[in-house]
This record gives sequence, structure tokens and C-alpha cells, in this order.
Amino acid sequence: MMFLDPDRPIATCGSDSCDGCACGRELHCHFGLKDWLHFFLISLPPFLLGGAGIYHVSGWLLVAWIVILAAFFGFVEIRVMCSHCPHYAEPEKSLKCWANYGSPKLWRYRPGPMTKMEKGVFFTGFAVVWGYPVPFLMVGGQWFLLLVYVMTTIGFFTTLKMFMRSQCFNFACPLNSVTEEARRRFFDRNPSVAKAWSDSYPG
Ligand code: SF4
Ligand code: SF4
Repeated sequence: MMFLDPDRPIATCGSDSCDGCACGRELHCHFGLKDWLHFFLISLPPFLLGGAGIYHVSGWLLVAWIVILAAFFGFVEIRVMCSHCPHYAEPEKSLKCWANYGSPKLWRYRPGPMTKMEKGVFFTGFAVVWGYPVPFLMVGGQWFLLLVYVMTTIGFFTTLKMFMRSQCFNFACPLNSVTEEARRRFFDRNPSVAKAWSDSYPG
């Protein structure tokens, strides 16, 4: 199966069924092809444009960027951010969600918040990934491409902010914006996740 069974509660959930659960309407407990395509379509343009700009200057340095992307989205981000996500607790060997679909789960599941070090690595990785093409676009005098690259990158993060951050059940992510009430409702159904968070912030 390409995605998790939408009729079966996720691994961390203590409920027998998703029927009538408010979390199912507020959060993305399950992902489908539509969610994956949506994420793919908003995230792809900056990578295509940035890649074209780097290739114009050097094919080898484009290869270096692709290696950085594979290392970050395939391993580093999975360790520092996704390993805290309830989705990571599923028995599948790779992620079946919208953003890092297919990334291998090499690390252990770490419910609860990210450490300061993990957040630092997360934001540094973002800066490297999206910042890398910029000098190539400038050095190559590709000003129009630079403008469109910046606009599509802003468009990606704006869409992420408006439509996705408020529905993602990885509360550890520094970009997450799920309301306190929705978090509490999710914790009520997912006691092991709630315990990891209360152990991290006792009292
Ligand atoms: S919290 Fe549990 S019951 Fe509710 S939608 Fe998510 S998986 Fe289903
Ligand atoms: S944090 Fe997002 S990308 Fe990572 S496993 Fe959870 S849903 Fe997937």
C-alpha cells in the first residue's frame, strides 16, 4: 500500500476507530496521494529553477547540491525532526507522509520535543538547501531566474504556513502552529505521545 490505511488509527493512537474523531478533521493523521501531490507541486518549482541556475554555471556543483538535498531530506532532517513525529512510529520501513515520502527510517522514534541542537541543525540545513543556488544565480547574472527563484521559495513557505503547519501532528517541528486545543484533543487519543511531552515539560 502506498499510504497508510485511512480507516485504521495510527500506531500511537489508542482509539479503535477514527469514526467521529475531531482530530481527523483538524489534523493530518493519514496522508493520501492528493496530499503528497499538493506538497510536491508547491515544493518542486524552486528546486527546478535553482537547479537550472546552478547547472548554467557548473554541472558538478549541481551534483553537489543534489547530494546535499538527498543527505538533508533523506537522513539529517529525518533524524532531527521527523524522528519526533507520531508518523515515525508506524511499523513501515520508510515514511508514507506528504513531505518526506520514501525517506528511510534509520533512526529510533523519539516522541516529544526537539532539542536546541536539533533545531539548530534543522534551520542550518534549511539555510544551506535554499541558500545554495543564490550565489550561482548572482555570479551567473541570472537576475530574472533569481527573482522567480525567490518568489517560488516565498510561495512555498507561505503555502506551508497558511495550509500545512496548522494541520501537522508533529508538534516538535519549530514551524508547527497547531492550536493548544487541537493538541490537547490529539494527546487525549495518543497517550504515549502525550506522556513524552509531559515528561519533557513536567508540571
Ligand atoms: S487521533 Fe486517532 S482516532 Fe483520531 S483521526 Fe487520528 S488516528 Fe484516527
Ligand atoms: S514531520 Fe512531516 S515529513 Fe516528517 S514524518 Fe512527520 S509528517 Fe512526515
